[in-house]
Formats: sequence, C-alpha cells, structure tokens
Amino acid sequence: MKTVRVAVTGAAGQVAYAMLGRLASGEIFGPDTKVILHLLEITPALPALEGTAMELDDCGFPTLGGIVMTDDPMKAMDGVNFALLVGAFPRKAGMERKDLLEKNAEIFVGQGKALAAKAASDVRILVVGNPCNTNCLIAYSNGRDIPAERWTAMTRLDHNRARSALAKKAGVGNEAVTCVTIWGNHSNTQFPDFTNAKINGKPATDAITDRAWLETEFVPMIQTRGAAVIKARGASSAMSAANGALDHVKSLVTPTPAGDWISAATISKGEYGIPAGMVFGYPCTSDGQGNLTIVEGLSHDEFGKAKLAATLKELQEEREAVKPMLPE
Ligand code: NDP
Repeated sequence: MKTVRVAVTGAAGQVAYAMLGRLASGEIFGPDTKVILHLLEITPALPALEGTAMELDDCGFPTLGGIVMTDDPMKAMDGVNFALLVGAFPRKAGMERKDLLEKNAEIFVGQGKALAAKAASDVRILVVGNPCNTNCLIAYSNGRDIPAERWTAMTRLDHNRARSALAKKAGVGNEAVTCVTIWGNHSNTQFPDFTNAKINGKPATDAITDRAWLETEFVPMIQTRGAAVIKARGASSAMSAANGALDHVKSLVTPTPAGDWISAATISKGEYGIPAGMVFGYPCTSDGQGNLTIVEGLSHDEFGKAKLAATLKELQEEREAVKPMLPE
C-alpha cells in the first residue's frame, strides 16, 4: 500500500466537511493508497474538529491511514504531499476588502513558511480560502523553497459551473462540453471563456449562437453564482467548492484527456501578457504526475481581451494591498 499525506486547513469548516470523507474514501487516490489527513484549525475550532474526526473514524474507510489534528501549521505541514489551504478569515459585516486581504495575509505568510520548512519534497498546493489567488501569492512568496509550479489556486469550481451552464443551454450532457477556461481571479471579475470552449468538439458558439446570452447572461451568471447559491440555500456553496477542489487534485494525479484542458490559477511566467509572478487563472493540462502546463496559443476577441484586462487589474490591486507581505 502507498501512503499519501494530505493537509487540509480550516478542517472544521463547511468546505472541509464536504471534502474530508471523499478524500479518505479512496475516491481520489484509489483503493491501494492510504490517506493520512493532517487537519489544521485555529485553537477555538479544535473541539469541533474532534467531532469531524470522530465521523471520519465512524465511516470505517479501509483507505484512511490516520488523522493528525493540530493548531500548529508546522505540525500540520510536516511531510505532506498535498496541501489544501481551505481555511481563511471570513469577511465580516463592515469589513473593507483591504482589511480582509491583510487578515488573510497573516495566515498565508505562516502557512507558506510552514510548507517550505516541513512539506514533502513533492508537495502540491491548492489554495481554496478566499481571496484565493492573492492568498496563494502570499503563501508562495513566503515559501519560495517550493518551486513556483507547485502552487495553485482554485478556479475549478467556476470551471465546472461554466461547463454545466453551457451544457444546459445547448441541451447536451456535461461531458460534451470541453476546453472551458476560467481566466484570472476567482472573483466576479473572472472571465469564463466561452469563445474557446467546445461543444461536441466544435466551437461552443456554433451550438449556442445567441452571443448576447453568452456575453450578458452566461458570463455574469458564472461570476456571481456563489452569491446566487447563498441566496437560494441560505448557506454558501460548500459542497460544490469541495468538489471543485477534489476535481483539481484528481486532475493533478490523472493525465488530462487529449484535446481538453482544465482551469487552475497558477503562477504566471508571462503567458498571455500577464506579468510574471501573478497568480492567474489559466487553461492547463496535467501529466498525471502533479505537473500542470499552461495551454498556450489561444486567442481572444475584443470582448475577451477587455475581460482579461479587468481581472488582471483587480489582481494587481490585490497584490498592491498585500505588498508588505511579499518578500522581494
Ligand atoms: P468554509 O469552509 O465555508 O469556507 C472556507 C474558505 O473557502 C473561505 O475562505 C471561502 O471563501 C472559501 N471558498 C472558496 N470557494 C467557496 C465556495 N464556492 N463556497 C464556499 N466557500 C468557498 O468556511 P467556514 O467558516 O465554514 O470554515 C472555515 C474554517 O477555517 C473555520 O473552521 C475556521 O476556524 C478555519 N480557519 C482556519 C485557519 C487555519 O487553519 N489557520 C485560519 C482561518 C480560519 P468565502 O469566505 O469567500 O466564502
């Protein structure tokens, strides 16, 4: 049996609750791999975390190899092969975006350092906690002993939302929709790119000819889907967020099918004119060994170019707000 150690932060929270059973069940790493969960929480949430761990025990998964529970990032990151950084400081009423960025910066400075000091040499990191692109930038900037290509932030939930919405509009199954990309920030400036997407192997715009719907309904619907779920459900989209994170991990350990790609925010090396060092949502393929490659050579029309510029601008503003937390 192989063993994989997976850190999950914010482990007593809603997204983690929807994620941990699936991680432990064998669904992600297969029936021949034991999963040891390293669960990080803030001290006041440790009693609740005990309850989650009790439930994990009670599932009796043959693939669950152990549970480490701690409020110390150095312990949580010790020897981990994957780190899913879910916990983040929640936006409270009356809080300015800048305050939120600063509060989270403190958390992600510490976790970046802990990962660099303690994680396994093959570690792969996914930041889910919001604002996830900028939180990832902070962790990476403080954990540079880990190569840049190992750090990612989650745009996979947005990708899945876009795929499903296009499939519904075209009256096809989700599997018929490929080559969807979420460009830029995981926020309401993201660009869910229908212009390069395909339906049954042909441009999505051949199947959905209503360009006005694509521009004025589809794009805002994906950008604001999280708020729509909160309005309908009275609680945030924890299940689909957990699913997006797990799809991301599955994609890291499974080669991307030929002719398709996934969405992930990675550290730019200048692709598509994005300044190097930004954490930007791109189309990526995976070799199944944990390595993502940005798909190059796609083009954007005027609409797409304007959307890319808007999301880049927002990310640059976020970066400016946390500059003191970014070592040179
Ligand atoms: P959730 O588990 O619902 O959310 C966790 C994070 O995931 C939030 O930043 C949330 O962003 C983000 N997220 C990304 N996409 C989605 C989505 N589609 N739907 C919902 N969330 C999404 O939060 P909880 O408050 O239930 O739990 C957070 C836990 O993290 C708490 O138990 C807290 O104690 C812990 N925490 C741990 C830290 C640590 O380990 N050091 C540090 C800070 C907190 P958004 O806020 O935008 O919804």
